[in-house]
Amino acid sequence: MSIELIKHGTPAHFEEDDTTGESIGIQHLVKEMLYRIGEDPEREGLLKTPLRVDKAIAFLTSGYRADLDKIVNGAIFEEELGREGDEIVLVKDIEFYSMCEHHMIPFYGTMHVAYIPDRRIIGLSKIPRIIDIFARRLQVQERLTAQVADCVQQVLNPKGVAVVAEAKHMCMCMRGVQKQNSTTTTKSMLGAFREKPEHRSEFYALLRGNN
Ligand code: ZN
Repeated sequence: MSIELIKHGTPAHFEEDDTTGESIGIQHLVKEMLYRIGEDPEREGLLKTPLRVDKAIAFLTSGYRADLDKIVNGAIFEEELGREGDEIVLVKDIEFYSMCEHHMIPFYGTMHVAYIPDRRIIGLSKIPRIIDIFARRLQVQERLTAQVADCVQQVLNPKGVAVVAEAKHMCMCMRGVQKQNSTTTTKSMLGAFREKPEHRSEFYALLRGNN
């Protein structure tokens, strides 16, 4: 078996799965990779691995095919909010799982998303869904954080958005420098959170839980 495999037909035990639209090609590549790392793709434990990897990859990259409008549709509400008009809405400790684009190895952690509404608010369960749109792609943590902030800005046009992500990168833990306990923190601030230190302070106080 060699790269020739890719040109020849699909082995009979592969079932087509159209979740990525590239299933047959991906399964061929996985089988080829198994061979090239010194494995026997025909041994029993690996027979269905190309199919399983294909399905896993399809899920982990489903953000490329997600439809933001469909996800937030019907969950944006017009609200008259408090007297000051600068109340912070914070959803914290939202788990996320992504894959680093340099190694295609997972990084995962928690994200905290805050915004200061300008009349429009969003159903709180939609915030994790927005994170998944961008987490389920090949990513760097910095861009993931900024994309979530930009998306909340785009959807709600609020007075400010603050996003903080804390993550462990398996490409650091399992290989290379093997720093198993290091976490990486990234943040993205827009509008009032960027311009007004008092809003930033309140956001960090809320994050610490001592408000
Ligand atoms: Zn990496």
